[in-house]
Amino acid sequence: MVRPRYNGGVRRRDFLDKVWLLTLGGGLRPKSFVEASSVSSQMDEKTSVYPSYLRLEKSGQLSERVEKLLAFYENCHLCPRDCRVNRLKGETGICRATSRVKISSAFPHFGEERPLVGKSGSGTIFFSNCNLRCVFCQNYTISIEGEGVEISDEQLAETMLKVQSFGCHNINLVTPTHYVPSIVRAVQMASRRGLKIPLVYNTSGYETIEVLQLLDGVIDIYLPDLKYMRPEFAAKYSSNAYNYPHYAKMAIKEMHRQVGELSVDSQGIARRGVILRHLILPQRISSPEEFIKFVAEELSPGTYVNLMGQYRPEYKASEYPELNRRITRGEYQEALAWARRYGLTRLDR
Ligand code: SF4
Repeated sequence: MVRPRYNGGVRRRDFLDKVWLLTLGGGLRPKSFVEASSVSSQMDEKTSVYPSYLRLEKSGQLSERVEKLLAFYENCHLCPRDCRVNRLKGETGICRATSRVKISSAFPHFGEERPLVGKSGSGTIFFSNCNLRCVFCQNYTISIEGEGVEISDEQLAETMLKVQSFGCHNINLVTPTHYVPSIVRAVQMASRRGLKIPLVYNTSGYETIEVLQLLDGVIDIYLPDLKYMRPEFAAKYSSNAYNYPHYAKMAIKEMHRQVGELSVDSQGIARRGVILRHLILPQRISSPEEFIKFVAEELSPGTYVNLMGQYRPEYKASEYPELNRRITRGEYQEALAWARRYGLTRLDR
């Protein structure tokens, strides 16, 4: 009997082996955490259909979303780069992705924020390629050089179910923006086969409101970065994305409008809401004070914020002397002091 072939000649078994072998190669990285300063449980589990995409599927709206999103591939404006290329025909824009999904790995991740990780891990799926392309990217072999395996949307659905079968608390979609149509299609397929854990949309924040509105009711947990507050730095270090601060701020406000502050269950596991990250760069290049002011004044002081101090020069950072070092203890403490001054109450440290 001829075995079914997937992925342009890669057998299904080969595909799963490849993905899970990548997992064994470096996925399980336990990491210690300091407790978040506070968590709250606001979700009434008995009165709502959860995760939200199940409600959309039940009402028939998920099919409409899939249809609308798939049309973006033909004239791609999935992100503010607005390349207008036909990805269905194999054309590529700045992210260098076609409409064929590529992933580098899928695994239970223990190195994310504690409300995502719990006891069983966050079911992370790493997508290849990226629309932002930072000179200091720590995952540049995946996001810029495009390392990974091409898979069909059906295989992506299978991967989600596989991750769920490991007991993970959520599906953590890392760098999903350029594959949103395929992801939502895969979520629909997987939900019909029993997917029932929430989605985490783990993004650089370089998003459009139009696409985010199509994700309203699909995503329960948004995990955006806000990398820069100033256009000149976004342009210099992220492939001329001068409009990044403008779009990212709008995007994060929209995410906050959709899902609000983080709510957790009785075990402290994230159920719904925004977890906002800010990677502190040397010499205040990421503008941490402006970032914190934005959170306090335009979102809410109770927003769950991760001020990340783990920057290290990677990829092409050594070509920029100002980026060619780790941050100092003083730079990190300064950011914490601003967080206190502006009254932020939920820091993941
Ligand atoms: S998703 Fe890719 S092709 Fe589409 S607009 Fe963004 S960078 Fe361009």
